[in-house]
Amino acid sequence: MSFEALNLAAPLVKAIAACGYTAPTPIQAESIPLALAGKDLIGSAQTGTGKTASFVLPALQRLLTPSQKPGKGPRILVLTPTRELATQVTDAVRSYGKFMRVRCGSILGGMPYRDQMMLLAQPVDIIVATPGRLIDHLDRRSLNFSRLELLVLDEADRMLDMGFSEDVDRIAAAAPEDRQTLLFTATMDDAMAKLAKRLLTDPVRIAV
Ligand code: AMP
Repeated sequence: MSFEALNLAAPLVKAIAACGYTAPTPIQAESIPLALAGKDLIGSAQTGTGKTASFVLPALQRLLTPSQKPGKGPRILVLTPTRELATQVTDAVRSYGKFMRVRCGSILGGMPYRDQMMLLAQPVDIIVATPGRLIDHLDRRSLNFSRLELLVLDEADRMLDMGFSEDVDRIAAAAPEDRQTLLFTATMDDAMAKLAKRLLTDPVRIAV
């Protein structure tokens, strides 16, 4: 299996080669074609399996087609439980997106509001955020989801453990219903199954 066989666009294949990756990992090989086809996914995968690329690459591929919707809000939102993980996702967006134009910003707790308001006043493609601070911006109406096409929940089990369940529900409720949703989790229990049932539509489950 090669990255070319996954139907990824040329700028992405080039960036992957520049990263030195020779073949997709199992979660990438399974999830990328389904994500590109617009399916909702539940990926059961630990850190270290290559799960970040399995949602960042399909997210970037979306940006190669112009948005059909007016406005300047994000087309893609990635929610992560921690600032550290958000930074890793942002780094992945920068390396896999280095041969295309991507406007990516982060909205994280503990960081100055002023910079975030400035970021959100401009057109943006991808926002990587922790749930609490993102809710603040929704409440302040500094953020608009009318263009949102793809919602990613990374390490969703940790978000539930940290008490973000209600925030995640509120964020998803503010997003368009016809969006695509990708959920990644290391563990699958009752609470996670319920979250997935509330937020995803006819999801395909992938376990590696
Ligand atoms: P993740 O599970 O997303 O945190 O990724 C773990 C590490 O694997 C990161 O350092 C990635 O840069 C690396 N990685 C991701 N996909 C591949 C791949 N297909 N081949 C080699 N390394 C990869």
